[in-house]
Amino acid sequence: MDQKITATLFELAAKSLLSSEPAVMHALEKIPRGLFLPLFSTAFLGGHKKILKAMVRVWPFHCLHLGSLKAQESYYDILEAMIDGLPIPPAQNSSSRGHKLKILDLRHNSKCKTTCSHVRLTFPFCLQSCKYSQHAVLNLENTQHRARCLGMGNSGSEVESAQGTMELLVDISLNNTLRTQQFLTFLCNKVEQSSGFLHLCCRDLRINRMSANKRILQILDLGCIDHLTMDQAYPNEIVTLFAGMTHLRSLSLSNTPFRSYKGRNFRFFLILLGQLENLQELRLSFFYLKDQLHKLLRVLPPHLDTLCLSFCGLSIRDVTSLSQSSQATQLRVLNLNNNDFFSEAYEPFQVLLEKVSGTMQHLEINNCMMTDSALLAIIPNLNQCVHLRVFNFAFNPITMPVLRSLLQHLTSLPRLRHVIYPIPVHCYQERNFHHSLNRQKLAEVQAQVKAMLHMLHQDHVQWATYS
Ligand SMILES: [Zn+2]
Ligand SMILES: [Zn+2]
Repeated sequence: MDQKITATLFELAAKSLLSSEPAVMHALEKIPRGLFLPLFSTAFLGGHKKILKAMVRVWPFHCLHLGSLKAQESYYDILEAMIDGLPIPPAQNSSSRGHKLKILDLRHNSKCKTTCSHVRLTFPFCLQSCKYSQHAVLNLENTQHRARCLGMGNSGSEVESAQGTMELLVDISLNNTLRTQQFLTFLCNKVEQSSGFLHLCCRDLRINRMSANKRILQILDLGCIDHLTMDQAYPNEIVTLFAGMTHLRSLSLSNTPFRSYKGRNFRFFLILLGQLENLQELRLSFFYLKDQLHKLLRVLPPHLDTLCLSFCGLSIRDVTSLSQSSQATQLRVLNLNNNDFFSEAYEPFQVLLEKVSGTMQHLEINNCMMTDSALLAIIPNLNQCVHLRVFNFAFNPITMPVLRSLLQHLTSLPRLRHVIYPIPVHCYQERNFHHSLNRQKLAEVQAQVKAMLHMLHQDHVQWATYS
């Protein structure tokens, strides 16, 4: 039978089954494995918490990922119900199929299917397994695998302990909302009750003010985290966390108040930053760095892919440092929004563009006090950035003739697809940028831009503005 028709039939069967919760609960142990996937999606989207809990308990595959599923409401209630379905401690499980589930992945990931079992029948069985923690299923299974290869059977105590381990993958956001705090307390209790059976694996940690639940940080294996976002954290709190995050790939810090750049905290911050060898993305905002960027660049890995420095008080000296850094020739994404370095000079930025031209795909220089003369000067350098896909330069005082000139010159960039341009200065009365926008004049500008794009056969490039 056609695969699509089979899937539709499964979905219909799942919907029909869910019309009677007691009947599903009763039948779960007996229904075919193939029906579990559509039944799970339908139960999740319908918020059937009891059924989800029961399904986790008897899940017939090694892994279960939420993947692209998004709950409409009661999100934390649903997650708690599913976590409650885990057989903790393991002896509680009484499923006649035997307990197969090893990895419960409660993260939203649009590229991930509900289970990997149908694509990977061999070891390792799950594409999302934790690679770093010593309590990870993969590491313990490796031990088991090696022991089998060496003919040790299953008698070793380390091997035996591998049998009962489970992984719970969840993105954690520390904030002060009551429901989040309740969920984190629930998580902490579960992990503690499991006595080492459950590895709580968090790869994306968001902290909005550290004052929120700190207990969870003591439970987490910081080595698993690859994305860290912190807002309004104190320097000493940041450095304390950094020390354990050896696999961090993306770091975002905002509103971080270093009292002095000669102080102990900043020096320690630089030392720990230098130890993040896997770091690919660094995003700082409201992180005052005037004339200090060279210190950061000195310790950051040369293969940095993304550098965003918005509202960092960058000077032209900082732009010069960036143009001379080893990172400049590797960057794919560069965001220098909200720094007014163009008011000093534009030549160092020209050099920077030359350096990043071989790799850069995304450039943002919104609100950098770039005038007509600066924009005209950098156009030849922009034209060298042959990989550029996105160029944002809104909120700069540019006139319409220069905007037209730029549009004509950028037609030579083969990959350019999105441009956010500033509203030309003549659209503002008395150059009062925020309060006197003439919408009629703006509409004329937009019409002119559209007509020019059409005339130059550039309809595939989207030019837009913030109005
Ligand atoms: Zn999987
Ligand atoms: Zn882990």
